[in-house]
Amino acid sequence: MNTTTNRRAWIKSALAASAGLPLSTLLIPKLEAMPVSKAEIRFWKTFPTAKVNIRLNANENPYGPSPKARAAITDSLNEGNRYPFTSLNDLRTFLAEKENVSPDHIMLCPGSSEALCVAGLYASLEGGSVMSADPTFTELMNYAQVFNARWDKINVNDKLEHDFNAMLSAIKKDTRMIFIVNPNNPTGTLVDSKIVREFCLEASKKTIVFSDEAYLEFLDPTQQSSMVDLVRAGENVIVCRTFSKIYGLAGLRLGYLVAKPDIIRKLTPYQMGYPINQTAIAAGIASYGDTDFMNLSRTKNNTARKHLEDFLDKKGYFYGKSYTNFMFFECKTDGQKLLRKMADKGIGIRIWDYKNQEWCRVSIGTLDEMKAFTKAWEEIVG
Ligand code: PLP
Repeated sequence: MNTTTNRRAWIKSALAASAGLPLSTLLIPKLEAMPVSKAEIRFWKTFPTAKVNIRLNANENPYGPSPKARAAITDSLNEGNRYPFTSLNDLRTFLAEKENVSPDHIMLCPGSSEALCVAGLYASLEGGSVMSADPTFTELMNYAQVFNARWDKINVNDKLEHDFNAMLSAIKKDTRMIFIVNPNNPTGTLVDSKIVREFCLEASKKTIVFSDEAYLEFLDPTQQSSMVDLVRAGENVIVCRTFSKIYGLAGLRLGYLVAKPDIIRKLTPYQMGYPINQTAIAAGIASYGDTDFMNLSRTKNNTARKHLEDFLDKKGYFYGKSYTNFMFFECKTDGQKLLRKMADKGIGIRIWDYKNQEWCRVSIGTLDEMKAFTKAWEEIVG
């Protein structure tokens, strides 16, 4: 039996063993909260119900939803008794127009997380491996690993940026998908779009490149360069977008993929049946391209991020130059204790293991929240 058949058989047996439970129920314990360090695993074991009110742990937008989205959400309640079939088609057509592709290039999803899982599942069923930078956002590769794919990790460079040359040389015969994020999560770093485009063009001759553009809108509009033109040119590239970040709709769950129709046709059968609701659709359409709200979020984010940057400079911490709504820096203190002491003060952050060291990833909240964070750091670490 070849690897692909093995994996398909494994899924079937997992489904049978679940005796009617949805597959997602089986996977939840494995993927829940996706700890990225030993410190987080230990912390959540000891404090499974820890709650924080200053949430600097999920790269959310503290200013959303926008006023336009809020009005659309209220109006959408009138459609709450209707299945969203028509609205889903409207949203697909709307996004297709915005991306300058035909609607069969678009896959809608309840947050881009589902798209990442679907892509990870698809790649693993093809047999072989997935590749990404390390550290990066792990969801696609975690999911692929659940279905037995190998994950090849390529360290970021000294500036904590994707090392695209190293990634190109590491492509193997069995590399089924390469996951890239620019700007990257958790490092916040950006690689020049020319380099990324050259990489995508070269790599997509050998495999599928998945370009996650979750934080693109945090860049100054003149710097924003999506890889969607490569999709339009028919390359083996998938572009992934979310409404969770600059649009501030993380709680409503909405995202989408843009890829050539034959890739979209291969991915959609693995979706969980469109759990996208009228409210998310209305909020997404009202938010898209709302420059006032995006400018406000970007400006406030830059001011609050500068507060943290200045603090880290003053303290002499090494960090990645961030173009996003989070920063990644050397922890230089015990990560588990730090998580605990920050949580005691009502502040949530993340701790990463990378190259035998602990690193903090701190999301950018409001300026007041960042001041509370730096004050807490002074008290805990000094
Ligand atoms: N991609 C990246 C790079 C992320 O950082 C996140 C969330 O933090 C996601 C995707 C998932 O976002 P969502 O499922 O809310 O669209």
